[in-house]
Amino acid sequence: MKIVFMKTAVLILLIAMFLLSCSDNDSEVDGIPEELAQDVSEHINIILIIIDTLRADHLSCYGYHRLTSPTIDSLAAAGTIWVNAQAQAPWTLPAHASIWTGLTVRSHRTETNRNWIRSDSSGKNYALDENLLSIPVLLSEAGFSTCGIANVCLLGDIYGFDNGFNNYSCNSAGHGMAAVSVDSLIVWLEENSMERFFCMLHLYDVHDPYDPPSPYNALFDTENSGEATVWEVEDGLLLNPEDRDHLVGQYDGEIAWVDDNLRTLFAWLRSRNLNENTLIIVTSDHGEEFLDHGWVDHGHTLYQELVHIPLIIAGPGISEGFVDSSFVGQFDILPTMISWAGVDCNGQFEGVNILTDDLTGDRVIPASGVVPVPWSTGGHLASVASNSRKTIGMSDLETFITFDLNMDPGEEHSLPADSLGVEEVLYYWATPQRGYPVFAMPGQVEVNALRNLGYIND
Ligand SMILES: [Zn+2]
Repeated sequence: MKIVFMKTAVLILLIAMFLLSCSDNDSEVDGIPEELAQDVSEHINIILIIIDTLRADHLSCYGYHRLTSPTIDSLAAAGTIWVNAQAQAPWTLPAHASIWTGLTVRSHRTETNRNWIRSDSSGKNYALDENLLSIPVLLSEAGFSTCGIANVCLLGDIYGFDNGFNNYSCNSAGHGMAAVSVDSLIVWLEENSMERFFCMLHLYDVHDPYDPPSPYNALFDTENSGEATVWEVEDGLLLNPEDRDHLVGQYDGEIAWVDDNLRTLFAWLRSRNLNENTLIIVTSDHGEEFLDHGWVDHGHTLYQELVHIPLIIAGPGISEGFVDSSFVGQFDILPTMISWAGVDCNGQFEGVNILTDDLTGDRVIPASGVVPVPWSTGGHLASVASNSRKTIGMSDLETFITFDLNMDPGEEHSLPADSLGVEEVLYYWATPQRGYPVFAMPGQVEVNALRNLGYIND
């Protein structure tokens, strides 16, 4: 009853915010000459917006106590918000690869090399496999004009994320570039939006250092309680835990700054009538840790502060003002997007179409991480969420803990490991969809997982 009440309250709040926003935004686009508004009746377009490092619970439409995201809230009110969306990885490279390919990390294998994965010992990250189907490749082949704007080196061409884009730019140090990136996207749209288009906009501003421009730096940190813009860690020790509230305030200011730039983009789309025939998706690759479980930054754990991500879709055919509590993943974006666009595809994906597929069963949403060595001594992590039950395999999958996310969304009280959850974690780990190279050269972790599943008998 309590949950139903909360969802109803959130829905009412979203609708109210949307109505307010509509009146504001209508006045913003006043003065746009009518002849600039395009006749886009035959165009069905897609804009995918990925806000790096954005944890869902810091958006006001996800119940945050600060009004960080009025524009994104308005989009949620105009479309559907998935309140239990899960990332497939806790850091940038593998999480984006799951968005691109519709696969889990164990299948696309775009992550940090550690010797147990492949035979070389270069210690480098693996690029996106060019043989995999991806959103830009599929939509490009389907006739979409494609544009990608990214703001971190991990999404550069050497990692293969430009494959399938007609136009792709990646600023390898793109922190603070939200306004410039939105302007660049609008310039591209001015020249190309008469064709059916797909745009990917990746914004890196919310990632540390947390130093939003004025006045966003004072929105939630009014006492200016500190000067730090990053966590200071030395030899594994956190030197400035007392800066937590200040850093959270600045992080929230970054969200507001990004949200305000999206307001500019959405107002421009409305001024050209493009909002009528454009699907808009807002999500993130992973969240951020603020000592929730003793860690800061991201990449180290699979707790919800890192894997609970926003997922909002609005546009033609999308239910308005709907709150969906199904457990879904970022690997669902590709199948959902191409199905919505009517693109025929014979590819095998682990994600599903969350707009039309039945999600009421015990669907398993996995996540995993290979902690980058420069950040720690490394280790293997894997988890599965199935409805509200979540099991995490810790420390090279030798220790398991379970949480009930409905009763304990902050994962403060671990339960004894759920045997079904443990089996699901090990099954995910041992049986990647593409099946290589783990079976050709299994390491000790895979051997243990296979043994536990009964595939190896000593
Ligand atoms: Zn990231």
